[in-house]
Amino acid sequence: MMDKVATPDYIRRHDRDRTFPHELYQAWVELGLLSMPFPEAYGGLGGNAIDMMIIAEEIARKGYDFYASYAAGVFTAHMLLQKADEPQKRTWLPRFFAGEIKLSTSMSEPDAGSDVGALRTSAVRDGEHWIINGQKLWATGAGVKDNVIALYVKTDANAHYRNGISLFLVDNDAPGMELRKLEMLGRSSVGTYEIFFNDVRVPPERLVGGENQGWGCLLAGLQYERLTSAAGYYGCSQTIIDSALQYAQERKQFGRPIGTNQAIAHMFADMQTEVDAARLLTWRAAWLIANGKDALREISMAKLFGSETYVKVAAAAMQIMGGYGYNMEFDMQRLFRDSRSVTIGAGTSQMQRNLIAALMGLKVR
Ligand SMILES: Cc1cc2nc3c(=O)[nH]c(=O)nc-3n(C[C@H](O)[C@H](O)[C@H](O)COP(=O)(O)OP(=O)(O)OC[C@H]3O[C@@H](n4cnc5c(N)ncnc54)[C@H](O)[C@@H]3O)c2cc1C
Repeated sequence: MMDKVATPDYIRRHDRDRTFPHELYQAWVELGLLSMPFPEAYGGLGGNAIDMMIIAEEIARKGYDFYASYAAGVFTAHMLLQKADEPQKRTWLPRFFAGEIKLSTSMSEPDAGSDVGALRTSAVRDGEHWIINGQKLWATGAGVKDNVIALYVKTDANAHYRNGISLFLVDNDAPGMELRKLEMLGRSSVGTYEIFFNDVRVPPERLVGGENQGWGCLLAGLQYERLTSAAGYYGCSQTIIDSALQYAQERKQFGRPIGTNQAIAHMFADMQTEVDAARLLTWRAAWLIANGKDALREISMAKLFGSETYVKVAAAAMQIMGGYGYNMEFDMQRLFRDSRSVTIGAGTSQMQRNLIAALMGLKVR
């Protein structure tokens, strides 16, 4: 299915025109790829984190940009599975599985990136309703048609962030919202959005997890976000290796394929070894999650190593392809551009290292 819909021309066109791959997304819906890793009670197909990994690798084979829309939806839905109440789960999850809505998550702000607890966008009560004002940044896929945004806002200005943030589900076309698709180095199709909120009115049933209980939702969401992200990284990395390998076997200089130079051949040996290691780290984390165990350390390691490997592999593959790798008419430049985001998004490499070290007992300042 992926090969039939997401042809090389289809991918290039959406990257160039900065348009969302609606046909491909619809095909995922029809195949049940969105509903696979969710319980049957809410309309899912009853799979687990390991099923999600298998799907993720295949989708990510076409590049991280398209994959980002699958990942953002699935990890947001997974957070709802953990934190929403029964009526909310029965309302939102089946609609997401059926493709009636898409889901995204918006935490980051101009002054709240790694330090997400510093967010300032606020919601204040107005009778039963809430009124949201402020600005969000870098929200993947938030401006796509029928997107519902899982939005983290301050609801108690005087409380510590652990006790003063709440989560709301907000339609991206609610009155008072303005979304702008940002010019980024890569990931142009699904896109990254800036959002302005000007007296956006939200009904009480859109509050998830309880008033001032948003921090717990955020932490729960981050774990599955990083696992989902890591699963995409090695799918993309494998595509990069495969296309550079084909090139190295065909491209001749000095009368023989460039891949017969030991300097190039060893680059492939290293790349494949590291991508396999990234895959195994992620599988370990998914196995722990699928078996109901805590996996914060393992997920952070998989996210850190997988993202850094992906960036490294993309840079090496561009070197192997010489001028053709750097040329806009070939696909490697897109794979390279998309790769560069992954040690920043879903928590930077530095923040993953801080977390892993903290879990080892070292309080990094
Ligand atoms: C393509 C893309 C998609 C994204 N999608 C989303 C999304 O869907 N939803 C959303 O809410 N956000 C999203 N983000 C935002 C992302 O989570 C943030 O960019 C990220 O958390 C880093 O924040 P920042 O960019 O403000 O950098 P900063 O936090 O300002 O960090 C700048 C640098 O300082 C380092 N640094 C900061 N603090 C420390 C520290 N304590 N120790 C060591 N180093 C530190 C960082 O590692 C980084 O290298 C996305 C970002 C990108 C690039």
